[in-house]
Amino acid sequence: MNWLNKLIVGLMPIAPKFLIGQVAKRYIAGEELEDGIQRVYKLNDHGFLGTMDVLGESITDKAGTEKPMRLYKNLIRELGEHPDLRTGISVKLTQLGLNIDKEFCWENFKEILEMGQEIDLLIRIDMEDSSVTEDTLQIVERAHEIYPKVGAVIQAYLHRSEEDMHRLLEQDINVRLCKGIYKESASIAYQSKEEVRENFIKLGKIYLANGGYLGIATHDEYLIDHFRTYIENKGITTDNYEYQALLGVPIEHILQPLVDDGKTVRIYVPFGEDWYAYSSRRLKENPDIAGYVIKDFFKRDKLS
Ligand SMILES: Cc1cc2nc3c(=O)[nH]c(=O)nc-3n(C[C@H](O)[C@H](O)[C@H](O)COP(=O)(O)OP(=O)(O)OC[C@H]3O[C@@H](n4cnc5c(N)ncnc54)[C@H](O)[C@@H]3O)c2cc1C
Repeated sequence: MNWLNKLIVGLMPIAPKFLIGQVAKRYIAGEELEDGIQRVYKLNDHGFLGTMDVLGESITDKAGTEKPMRLYKNLIRELGEHPDLRTGISVKLTQLGLNIDKEFCWENFKEILEMGQEIDLLIRIDMEDSSVTEDTLQIVERAHEIYPKVGAVIQAYLHRSEEDMHRLLEQDINVRLCKGIYKESASIAYQSKEEVRENFIKLGKIYLANGGYLGIATHDEYLIDHFRTYIENKGITTDNYEYQALLGVPIEHILQPLVDDGKTVRIYVPFGEDWYAYSSRRLKENPDIAGYVIKDFFKRDKLS
C-alpha cells in the first residue's frame, strides 16, 4: 500500500459523509430497491446481466437479521414482478446470522432459497473473510442439493482454494472466481499480486478444462486477456463461463466489446441504505481502493 492510500484511509473517520457519498455514488445503484432495479434494466439494455446485492453489515444478534431478511424477500418478490429483468442475486451469509449460529443462518437462507426457487432465480453466496469460508461452503453445498441454481465464490488468494475448486467441481456447482478482498495472513493466503494472479489462472483452468461453470470476476486486464485467449484456443463455449465486474469500475472499454462479441458479462449491483458502512469497509479492507477513489473524484466531471 502506498503512503497516500494509507493517509486517505487514516483520514476516513473525519471525512465528511458527503465526500464518501460522492465516491459511493459511482459504485452503488442507490438507496432504494427501485434504484437497483432501474440500474439493472439499464445494464440489460447494453447487453449486461446483473447480480443484485442488498448492502448490509455482518449481524451480531438474531433480531438484527430481520431487516436484511425483509429486504431480500422484498427484492425477490419484486424480481417476481419483473420477469423480464435479467439478473440474479448475491447474498452475504453473515447478514443472515452466520456469525451467530450456523443452523439459524441456514434456516434464514433456506427461506430466501425457496422464494428464489419459485421464480427460478440464480442465487450466489458471496465469500467473506476466512473465518467463515468453510461454513459458507457447507451452506452452499447443502443449498445446492435442494436447488441447483445456487453458486459459490472462491478467492484466489487463499491456499485452500485449489482443493475447494475440486470439491465444488465434483458437485457441479457454479463458481465465481475472484482474487479476494479481505486482508488475510501469509499463513493462509498468497500476498503478492503475482502469486494471486498465478493462482487465479490455475484455479480458473481447473474449472474450464473440466466442464465446470466459471464466473471470471476480475478487472485485471491481464487476467481477462489471458482467459479470453485460453477460452478461444480450447473452443470453450459460452455455456461454460461468464465475465463479471463490479458496478462503477471503469472497464467498459473491455467489457462492452466482450458483450458485443456475444460473451456473457454480469455486473454486481449493490444497493441499499447501508452504503456508507459498505464503502468505508471496502476502503479499510483494501486501502488500495483509496487510490481509485481519489482518481474517480478528480475524474468526476468527465464521468458524470
Ligand atoms: C463481480 C465481483 C464479485 C466479487 N465478489 C467477491 C466476494 O464474494 N468476496 C471477495 O472477497 N471479493 C469479491 N470480489 C472482489 C475481488 O476479490 C477483488 O478484491 C476486486 O475485484 C479487485 O481485484 P481485481 O481482480 O479487479 O484486481 P486488481 O488488481 O485489484 O485490479 C485490477 C485493476 O482494476 C481496477 N480496479 C479494481 N478495483 C477497482 C475499483 N474498485 N475502482 C476502480 N478501479 C478498480 C484497477 O485499475 C486495477 O488496476 C468481487 C469482485 C467482482 C468483480
